[in-house]
Amino acid sequence: MTARVFDLIVIGAGAIGENVADRAVQGGLTAALVEAELVGGECSYWACMPSKGLLRAGTVLRAAADVDGAKQAITGALDPLGVLRRRDAIVHDWDDTSQVSWVKGAGIELFRGHARFTGPKALAVTAADGTVTELRASHAITVSTGSAAVLPAIPGLRDAAPWTSREATSVKQVPASLAIIGGGVVGCEMATAYASMGCAVTLLSRGPLLGHLEPFAGEAVHSSLERLGVTVKIGAQAASVHRTGDRVVVELDEGSTVTAEQLLVAIGRTPRTDDLGLETIGLTPGDWLAVDDTMRVEGFDWLYATGDVNHRALFTHQGKYQARAAGDVIAARALGQPVDDAPWGRHVATADARAVPQVTFTDPEVASVGLTASAAAKAGYDIRVIDYDLGWLAGASALADHYEGQVRAVIDSAREVLIGVTFVGPGVSEMLQAATIAIVGEVPLKRLWHAVPAYPTLNEVWLRVLETDGRATA
Ligand SMILES: Cc1cc2nc3c(=O)[nH]c(=O)nc-3n(C[C@H](O)[C@H](O)[C@H](O)COP(=O)(O)OP(=O)(O)OC[C@H]3O[C@@H](n4cnc5c(N)ncnc54)[C@H](O)[C@@H]3O)c2cc1C
Repeated sequence: MTARVFDLIVIGAGAIGENVADRAVQGGLTAALVEAELVGGECSYWACMPSKGLLRAGTVLRAAADVDGAKQAITGALDPLGVLRRRDAIVHDWDDTSQVSWVKGAGIELFRGHARFTGPKALAVTAADGTVTELRASHAITVSTGSAAVLPAIPGLRDAAPWTSREATSVKQVPASLAIIGGGVVGCEMATAYASMGCAVTLLSRGPLLGHLEPFAGEAVHSSLERLGVTVKIGAQAASVHRTGDRVVVELDEGSTVTAEQLLVAIGRTPRTDDLGLETIGLTPGDWLAVDDTMRVEGFDWLYATGDVNHRALFTHQGKYQARAAGDVIAARALGQPVDDAPWGRHVATADARAVPQVTFTDPEVASVGLTASAAAKAGYDIRVIDYDLGWLAGASALADHYEGQVRAVIDSAREVLIGVTFVGPGVSEMLQAATIAIVGEVPLKRLWHAVPAYPTLNEVWLRVLETDGRATA
């Protein structure tokens, strides 16, 4: 069989793979994209978009309930069917037609099927009907196969048919009760969404909620989940799981049990590299693919990895940033053009290590970028930490009757610049980009002082942080 040849082949048409191929084509290369499921990947159909769809109605309703005059207009409860209907629209009923036309319009050739390496720069793509197509890359192959949910080795867990984030985000009928193992972002977001839809949720977490963020973030989300009626158990370790009829029973280490109609496991992600034929190119199936700052896999001059699979920062926006760098550098290298791989250059993803913005869409939202105070101290920075209560702002009282929120700014005292910011509060996600710009731009605090926030908005917190610190004008 003769192989089809392209300058670049990208495995995985998630948001990240699509962008790598698009940039390379814009740079003058030919590109093929291989997808085993839906073009658009996890984010569009089973992760970011449907989860935010499930969360929005509850957020809007609670915001209205905290504004006198508006709250009187709320005369009924949230309608779960309406929420699911809106979620279905957001995911286009799991139909990727529009994304497929975008791929075609971008001049990328799409192959549907499961790709496996057969050797260096060579792939076999097996379609659903068993047809095999051989592909060869003249310059590069990029692996953008993403990640899947981890199922831990808890006795009985697999037989109990637990949900992962896929089932939780594509649910057709909201269960009466849901137990969730995992107090990270997915666990907290789904606890919020399901509790808002009237489901009795029990959230089981080994450590404090959102343990990778500033401690006050997890504490605020913990209290708000309890206010929503969620039972939160911290220090909870599942010892075994079994299903009896239409109930799942989780036995905890300390002897108690939690019973629910469904069980969601949200404890982390594993790379989708186990069935890729990696052994044919000297790599180990099931491993994350470690890359340099241009997204090239260590030890190769033709193999790249972008998005979740390289384990640098498991977010769609950060993967797409890597994709822009990778697509551009692959084209530059193929065409013998200069490569701009100095820190903050066009062909590197420097921000992955310095300024990764992330939002947890709980209620309150948690929006953070850069380092937490403890991570900065551990990394050896000489820091100052400024905390401020968002509820004290005029903008907060204009927004809601009982606005609760908090900010923490972490300052590098040696350079007088911000290296980390965390906001907690309703609507704070929209404030995150200003913090990201301040960190990436290494804006000196003395200059930040002149970025005047509009009154009365929550952005006035920038002024309050600088006033509290007192050094910007000292
Ligand atoms: C519940 C949940 C909510 C999230 N919310 C957010 C959020 O709000 N914001 C955010 O930034 N991030 C969020 N994330 C993370 C985000 O979904 C991921 O970072 C993102 O989807 C990674 O994109 P990717 O392209 O690397 O992988 P994917 O989107 O998983 O795409 C990989 C594609 O590769 C295909 N594939 C795999 N193996 C093969 C093969 N051998 N051959 C052919 N095709 C293959 C898969 O079918 C898939 O379509 C969330 C994640 C979860 C689980």
